[in-house]
Amino acid sequence: MTQHVLVLNCGSSSIKFAIIETTSAKLPLQGIAENLGAENSQLRYSYGQDKTSLKLTTNATHKDALHCIEQVLKKFDTLGSSLVAVGHRVVHGGERFTHSCLIDDAVKQAISDMSHMAPLHNPANVAGITSAQAAFPNLPQVAVFDTAFFQTLPKHAYLYALPYKLYEQHGIRKYGFHGSSHYFVSGQAAKYLTKEIKDCNLITAHLGNGCSITAIKQGKAIDTSMGFTPLEGLMMGTRCGDIDPSVATFLIENLAYSANQVSALLNKQSGLHGISQLSNDCRTLEQEQAQGNQQAKLALDMFVYRLVKYIGSYLAIVGPLDALVFTGGIGENSSYIRQQTISQLKHMGFSLDDKLNTEMRFGHSGFISQPSSKNILAIATNEEWVIAQDTIKYAFQA
Ligand code: ADP
Repeated sequence: MTQHVLVLNCGSSSIKFAIIETTSAKLPLQGIAENLGAENSQLRYSYGQDKTSLKLTTNATHKDALHCIEQVLKKFDTLGSSLVAVGHRVVHGGERFTHSCLIDDAVKQAISDMSHMAPLHNPANVAGITSAQAAFPNLPQVAVFDTAFFQTLPKHAYLYALPYKLYEQHGIRKYGFHGSSHYFVSGQAAKYLTKEIKDCNLITAHLGNGCSITAIKQGKAIDTSMGFTPLEGLMMGTRCGDIDPSVATFLIENLAYSANQVSALLNKQSGLHGISQLSNDCRTLEQEQAQGNQQAKLALDMFVYRLVKYIGSYLAIVGPLDALVFTGGIGENSSYIRQQTISQLKHMGFSLDDKLNTEMRFGHSGFISQPSSKNILAIATNEEWVIAQDTIKYAFQA
């Protein structure tokens, strides 16, 4: 009988959900409950070609949304009755969680205890877990951590050059995020290269609203751009990425910013949005710059420049490269960003096949490099599939 897993990605004001077939990776049902806690809370989902939008109660909570998702599943009887487990994307697993695990009270408490390191994410993950336990009391629930893939980072890569006590007493170090995506596309890249993953040196660039890049040597992550929180590294939709930390103290001391205001500025008002003063959406910026908007051009130029710098530095540490991989909403779909990036890496042995670069978009994955170039791949990521696979693996462990 066909079995399904419910995959939940609970954010502070949204719950993304997907039902996945455990053997085929088919997604018969997926959707999002959004604007939770606000007046216009709603639930949208698609079942095959059918798209439905439902209004939720005003100020709907995670619990209300999960209840509604449960009702939707009941409506599609076969899906509801074939659910075998629930998988939760959990953003921060700290040093404690080196792999996914079945959720019990102690695990839930540990995820909650790490909230200071991911204040926007872990509390929402815990709220989602509690609500899902109430909605699906008979199903095992598994936590899959964004950070787990980076447990192989060596100490010299994950430590900050701060007093060592801050690491020992407060866990201040680089953790890395987007692990499920980097894991998935690195495995796919190995298949395209017809090599075993343990023999692959890769650079994987996940470019979405959040952006991160990972150096993978002999199949293992050895460095990644996101850090203690998902703010470090590449320029992103609304996050600044790398900056001199003194900017934060300057804002506090000279411009009377509170800690919350600094955090909001760096996380929500910066990046593509902050520079363009227009949008965090790469598509909008590409259109605007084509019409001569100089701020949009500057934002995209900065995005590419910083990406190129990271690729250069990771080339130095991974050893002979098997492939550079683009993924995430921008990496999978923007032939412009890929073209701009690779054009700056010609002298390092990269060149794009323009036709393949145009073809590999919107769910089509494959090589986009010329035969004479170092390998470049564009691969559609599938974090839900990784979560579903781990959920099956850990849900039924004795
Ligand atoms: P998230 O990090 O929220 O999962 P996604 O991976 O879905 O986000 O990526 C969202 C980003 O992908 C947005 O900035 C959007 O502009 C960009 N994007 C999606 N399609 C395209 C496209 N055809 N061209 C350029 N950018 C795109």
